[in-house]
Amino acid sequence: MADHYEVLGVPRDATPDQIKKAYRRLARELHPDVNPGADASERFKLVTHAYDVLSDTEQRQRYDMGGDSPFGGGGGAGGFGGFGDIFETFFGAAGGGGGRGGRPRSRRERGQDALVRVTLDLGDVVFGAHRDIDVDTAVLCETCQGSCCQQGTAPVTCDICHGSGHIQRTVRSLLGNVVTSQPCGSCQGYGTTIPYPCATCQGQGRVRARRTVSVDIPAGVETGLRLQLPGSGEVGPAGGPNGDLYMEVTVTPHEVFSRDGDDLLATLEVSMPDAILGATTTIESLDGPVELELRSGVQGGDVLTIKGRGITPLRGTQRGDLRVGVHVVTPTRLDAKERALIEEFAAKTKAPAPHLSEFHQGLFAKLRDRFRNG
Ligand SMILES: [Zn+2]
Ligand SMILES: [Zn+2]
Repeated sequence: MADHYEVLGVPRDATPDQIKKAYRRLARELHPDVNPGADASERFKLVTHAYDVLSDTEQRQRYDMGGDSPFGGGGGAGGFGGFGDIFETFFGAAGGGGGRGGRPRSRRERGQDALVRVTLDLGDVVFGAHRDIDVDTAVLCETCQGSCCQQGTAPVTCDICHGSGHIQRTVRSLLGNVVTSQPCGSCQGYGTTIPYPCATCQGQGRVRARRTVSVDIPAGVETGLRLQLPGSGEVGPAGGPNGDLYMEVTVTPHEVFSRDGDDLLATLEVSMPDAILGATTTIESLDGPVELELRSGVQGGDVLTIKGRGITPLRGTQRGDLRVGVHVVTPTRLDAKERALIEEFAAKTKAPAPHLSEFHQGLFAKLRDRFRNG
C-alpha cells in the first residue's frame, strides 16, 4: 500500500500546515470535477485517505507506529468546505463493506511461462542431447517463503475497500444515480495490504535469480520445435505455482549431412576409375566409420543406402537411413600420357556419342525420386 506521506508528497516530519497545503494542492488537481480520468479519481481517493489519517493527530501517531487506522473518524475532513461531501460520494457506498464487484483478487498467481533458445548440431539431433541451461527467472523468496510479509506479521484488511477489493462509486447521471464498482486503488484489488513487506523481496514473495535447468533433449528434434518443461518457468507472485519453460530448438546446418525426414543425405564423390572399377571405401558417418562397397560401374546419381544410420524420430525408436548419392568426378587435367590412355580407351569401347535422354533435375532430385519410387 502506498505510504500516506508519499501520497501527499510531504516529509515524515511535515507540520499539520504543510500537510493541509499539500492536500489542497493535490485535491484541486485531482478533483473529479476538474480531472475526470479514472487514474485521477483513484489518486484522489488515496490522497483524501492519506490526508484523513495524517491530519488527525491521534490517527497519525498510530500510523507512524505502523498501524493504519480504519476509516470512521472523519474528523479530519471537516473545515474544508466543499471537500467533505466528495468524501461521501466516494466512500459512502462502501461503508457496509459490500462486495458488489465480486471477490478480491488473489495475490498468489501462477508465474509466467518463459522461453529459452538452445542450439544443437546434427549429432545432437541423431542421438539426443543433454544440456544445462542457465535461466534468469524468479524463484521463491527464502526469507518469507512467499508470504510477502516480514516474519511475524500478516496482511491486514484494506481499510479503503474493507476487504472486498472493490470500490463502489455513485455517479449522477440523467437516469439517476448509477453505482459502479472498480478495483480498489489502495490495495490493487487484493482486499488486504501488507503493512510490513518482507525486505528481501519487497513484498513480492519472490526474487530474481539465475537458475540452472537440466534438460534431456530427445533425438529427432528440428529447428523451430519448442519443448515444454512444465513447472520450470518462474515462480508466481506470493508463492504462486511455477509457469512452464519452453525451449526452442535451432539446429545448425552440418557441412556434410542434411536431413530429409528421418533420413540423412550426403554426396559421395567418386573418381572415374573407382566408378569404373569399383572400390571399397570407409566413410565417416555421425556414428563413426562405415565401410562402403562401390560396385564396378556405379553411376553418377546412384544412391547407396546405409540402413539405420539416420535419425531416431521424435516419436519412435526406428532410426532412418543414411542415403549417399554418388557423384562421379570427371578428371579435368590430364597430362599427355593420361590423355593418350583415355583416347585409346575411347577408341576401344566405341562409346555412343552424346544423346538426349530423360531430364534429371540435379542429383538430389534424382535421389528423392528414387526414394519415393522405392
Ligand atoms: Zn520475501
Ligand atoms: Zn482496498
